[in-house]
Amino acid sequence: MQGIGADFAGLLLYCRAGFEADLTAELTERAARAGLGGYARVQAGAGHVFFEPAGCSLKELIRALPLTELIFARQVFPALPVLADLDRADRLTPIIEQAVAAGWRVDSVWHETPDTNEGKGLRRLIKAVERPLAAVLRKRGVLCSDAGGQRLHVFWQAGDRVQLGFSRPGRRSEWPGGVLHLRSPREAPSRSTLKLEEAWHTFIPWDEWDTRLAQGMQAVDLGAAPGGWTWQLVHRGMYVHAVDNGPMDARLMATTQVEHHREDAFSWVPPKSVTWLVCDIVDKPAKVAARMADWLEAGWCREVIFNLKLPMKQRWQTVYDCLDHIEERLLDERVRFRLRARQLYHDREEITAHVKLD
Ligand code: SAM
Repeated sequence: MQGIGADFAGLLLYCRAGFEADLTAELTERAARAGLGGYARVQAGAGHVFFEPAGCSLKELIRALPLTELIFARQVFPALPVLADLDRADRLTPIIEQAVAAGWRVDSVWHETPDTNEGKGLRRLIKAVERPLAAVLRKRGVLCSDAGGQRLHVFWQAGDRVQLGFSRPGRRSEWPGGVLHLRSPREAPSRSTLKLEEAWHTFIPWDEWDTRLAQGMQAVDLGAAPGGWTWQLVHRGMYVHAVDNGPMDARLMATTQVEHHREDAFSWVPPKSVTWLVCDIVDKPAKVAARMADWLEAGWCREVIFNLKLPMKQRWQTVYDCLDHIEERLLDERVRFRLRARQLYHDREEITAHVKLD
């Protein structure tokens, strides 16, 4: 396996378009907390950020910024300097030469674009170049049949602008573009059902689903109506207390797995402890975070997934303060836990967080 070569210029990170400043703020603060510096090359709305080390090595930045800890990033890997102004008549030669010069061996090549309308417009071009590029890379020894899962990312920022990056298993998202595409279940009462499903895919290893999302478990859904998240819990065979003043979907109620409580979710207390709490209430993030901390502190649930809505400007700061509040309260109570958060593909102006008590 190769080390991080001197030719890598920085870290390339994908994010939701419009959240580049939030990702930059997150990277800068996390790097600073590790005693490191970084400089971000950002363009608003571009759907990606390039973060270069400043006064430290790239290796140190990579170690300080693992994808699992990042909230506003969907993907991260070391990348080379951008190839700009590619000639329309021969876009591939500079790509091939840069890849060969970098000295990597990979067993897959992924062509990706930013998650923007401009990015979507590049699909035809990618289709046309994919095979010829792979054939030459194979001939030149870059692409081979077994390179330990190492991957070359060809990130098309525009038809004449490409950035090459390199990733290894275990440190990256295994979803193209860092995006998990899910099909909306026809029977689910709302499309936001996909947020909870994506959250499970993101935070719970697949081989633990049968024990952690098990049939017969008790769950609570705060702000449940019309029932998209409750539908996911019911679909896993759980029994759900759905707390919301609004109406729940009639078919979901007919399953007899749901008890509807028309009450205020911020003061409702469960009759006994449950395994799962989920919460998708549209309210002030600090208020939601404080209530999640109440539940975890009291031991009313073992795991929680909740959304923080972020209509404000200082989104990173808000998220940081909310998660910090939960962490401080649990640490004060000497509760052992694991907290993660991510802006999911199905999240818009919001993020999703997960806490598991140990
Ligand atoms: N997760 C739901 C789904 O998948 O169908 C959608 C939830 S919707 C975004 C937010 C819900 O929170 C609304 O139904 C609203 O009535 C409820 N809500 C807001 N404040 C509440 C409160 N204080 N107590 C109970 N429900 C509340």
